Amino acid sequence: MSRLVTTDGREVRARHSIETDVVIVGSGPAGATVARSLSLAGARVIVLEEGNEARPEDFAASGVRAMASLYRDMGTSIAFGNVSMPYLQGRVVGGTSVVNGAISWQLPKAILDDWAAADPALADALPYDTVAAAEARIEERLHVHATKERIAGPKNLLLARGAEALGVAHRPIRRNVRGCIGEGRCLQGCPHGNKLSMDLTFLPDAVAHGARIFGGMRVDRVMTEKDRAVGVSGITAGGAPFEVRARRAVVLAASAIQTPCILRRSGLTHGPVGDGLSAHPGVSITGRFDESVKSWRGATQGHEVTGYRGEGLKLEALGFDVSILASRVPGVGRDFARRLAELDHYAVWGAALRAEGRGRVRPGPSRPIVSYSLTKQDVLKARRAVRVLGDVMLAAGATEVYPGVPGFDPVVTTRARMAAFEESGSLAASDYAMSMTHMFGTAKMGSDRGTSVVRPDFRHHVVDRLYVADSSVFPGNLGVNPQIAIMALADVCAARITRVD
Ligand SMILES: Cc1cc2nc3c(=O)[nH]c(=O)nc-3n(C[C@H](O)[C@H](O)[C@H](O)COP(=O)(O)OP(=O)(O)OC[C@H]3O[C@@H](n4cnc5c(N)ncnc54)[C@H](O)[C@@H]3O)c2cc1C
Ligand code: SF4
Repeated sequence: MSRLVTTDGREVRARHSIETDVVIVGSGPAGATVARSLSLAGARVIVLEEGNEARPEDFAASGVRAMASLYRDMGTSIAFGNVSMPYLQGRVVGGTSVVNGAISWQLPKAILDDWAAADPALADALPYDTVAAAEARIEERLHVHATKERIAGPKNLLLARGAEALGVAHRPIRRNVRGCIGEGRCLQGCPHGNKLSMDLTFLPDAVAHGARIFGGMRVDRVMTEKDRAVGVSGITAGGAPFEVRARRAVVLAASAIQTPCILRRSGLTHGPVGDGLSAHPGVSITGRFDESVKSWRGATQGHEVTGYRGEGLKLEALGFDVSILASRVPGVGRDFARRLAELDHYAVWGAALRAEGRGRVRPGPSRPIVSYSLTKQDVLKARRAVRVLGDVMLAAGATEVYPGVPGFDPVVTTRARMAAFEESGSLAASDYAMSMTHMFGTAKMGSDRGTSVVRPDFRHHVVDRLYVADSSVFPGNLGVNPQIAIMALADVCAARITRVD
């Protein structure tokens, strides 16, 4: 029985046409926030989502199986550049919030100040007090609070121990969960419905106020008439063409990768659409502890080291199920078999980099063509990240850590050797296994039509009644986990749409 979806595109096999006030493409944090705010304000809203509805009881424990059912391209999306970097996105009703780590950070004021310094119009468009007030409301609804020690589990408590031993600032992660029992399956979807993702919060709120959610509906194009957006068209999962006409607004909230593709497919190539992709690439390392860690248990991501944020690094404990964890331990043959037998002794911690690197997104025949390259400075940062991750692990009591960077010791047991990594570790970008989960900046907001895609009020520079509400509009990356900031700016976007009427 469906909870949210009124129309399941898998069952729509004949041409479908419908009208509404506002059509929103994408049901992740950005789309769900706009849907909720506008339906509370009385608008007739339809949300179109390419993925299907998934229920907590259907979520698989295996990371590999979860990738296959809940992630875009089964988790195989890759950006190509001076390093081939997987990027991960959800494709499901609720978007990536269904499979994310629940880490909740507010948009740092310093970032808003930087944006405003580069384009003073953004100071009026995104006043700090307005953004902070939206974040406070969002955090209350999503029950954001610091991870409690009793559900943290060893992988998180060991990170705290290591940071404490080194005198580096650290804290329990603030997460959007209620009744979390530390089952460690956030990245596969919480099987108990304890993570307050969009499918369990903002989307039901929107539906309670009349919004309709359509799953299995892939939007291909924005329809325009005389420089005005009048709706969207696409194809249902059942293979039928559809059109949704919107009287008041078309809102793109399909993510920083998919939104610029929809714009370009629609012939809306004005401005740097698809250019300027920025991100927080992540590196991770594995370590072995004598004590049992059971890395798959405890809050999936429950502790973070904030003391290196000034350098653009944020360290987090990671929680993978055994199917993914097994791919993180080194060795071959008997050595690998021995390590597999003691898999409960391994922890994986990661660092997100506030990188300078930039990339580009273009629509491809079957999936977006994404390029992204790290700068020399970013590679130095990646090398530093591996060193500090190893340092914190050894300080926490790891007997071995595995930097996983070619040309350096595969197994490190002392902090002195970890320090040597920062001197002699590789400076080739391709030697660092990295991935991206936070993407920004492919349809930038700005006052200059030549260098931005949408205006400071989220409206497209050329096409009226067309809005972009996701992190495509962010002028750059944040250095912190973005979901709350995305929701806050989407809330401001919804207020602008309401004001236009
Ligand atoms: C594994 C993982 C862990 C993460 N952990 C955290 C975390 O702990 N904290 C945090 O702050 N952030 C985290 N993030 C990032 C965060 O989840 C995303 O930044 C956020 O969800 C982006 O919101 P969005 O609404 O822009 O896009 P999404 O959440 O990606 O939603 C976009 C939706 O649009 C749909 N869509 C795309 N194209 C179309 C189309 N053509 N037609 C119809 N529908 C379409 C997609 O299927 C998707 O459901 C994580 C990301 C990943 C991948
Ligand atoms: S840690 Fe486990 S119980 Fe807690 S929200 Fe994540 S999956 Fe659910």
